[in-house]
Amino acid sequence: MKRILTRTRQLKTKAANHFAAWLGGCVRCGAHRCSNVSPRLCKTCFDSLSGLDTLRCSCCATRLTTDDALCLDCIQNPLSFQSTQAFADYEGALQHMILAYKFHHQLKFAPLLADLFTVLLRQAPKQSLIIPIPQMFETTQSRGFIPLWHILKQTDIDGHFAPDALMRIHHRNLQVSATAEQRRRQIKGAFAATCDLSDTDIVLVDDVYTTGATLNEAAKACQQAGAKSIKCLVLARGKWLK
Ligand SMILES: [Zn+2]
Ligand SMILES: [Zn+2]
Repeated sequence: MKRILTRTRQLKTKAANHFAAWLGGCVRCGAHRCSNVSPRLCKTCFDSLSGLDTLRCSCCATRLTTDDALCLDCIQNPLSFQSTQAFADYEGALQHMILAYKFHHQLKFAPLLADLFTVLLRQAPKQSLIIPIPQMFETTQSRGFIPLWHILKQTDIDGHFAPDALMRIHHRNLQVSATAEQRRRQIKGAFAATCDLSDTDIVLVDDVYTTGATLNEAAKACQQAGAKSIKCLVLARGKWLK
């Protein structure tokens, strides 16, 4: 019975999303004045995104107030990847759209998020292997789809996507209320490469960067498989309060 109700809710949401897409205009406010980045977001909504053009640490993409290359955290605790690029901050309109898409099946936001990812992926080194962070099996079962992969399939990129190059070998849920150290322990050893990545440039892709623990563990698995370099691309960079 629960499954039927969930399925009915999903179908209703899907129908509503298709109707909104058919009407066209900005997926946030319905206005028809497009931004340069996407026909699905008006200029006002685009300009409201926070941290579009700001100084960031080249490794973890946290905001900086100076033009130093690295933040203090990345100097003291080096990460297993070389760089991170974030489209904007994880707050306001972008946070709302990601949450609505992932947790409330608002699929109308997927093409827009794909447009934002397209901008990021165009800057990825040519010939690099693009690997999305794998989702937990239980999460895929409860959501009924893999949000990140569903977005990436809609990007306008002719790249080398390898969604199966990493697998999750344990499935502990990351608690939202956990401290950064707890999250690091919970995700430790969570990933393994399924193929040889020798001499390969890797681009790890995720929707949100919070503590960096997940991307760091995924990067370690890529390193163990021989990856030459590892770059991270994320839609949104969250602020993590320690
Ligand atoms: Zn708008
Ligand atoms: Zn940093």
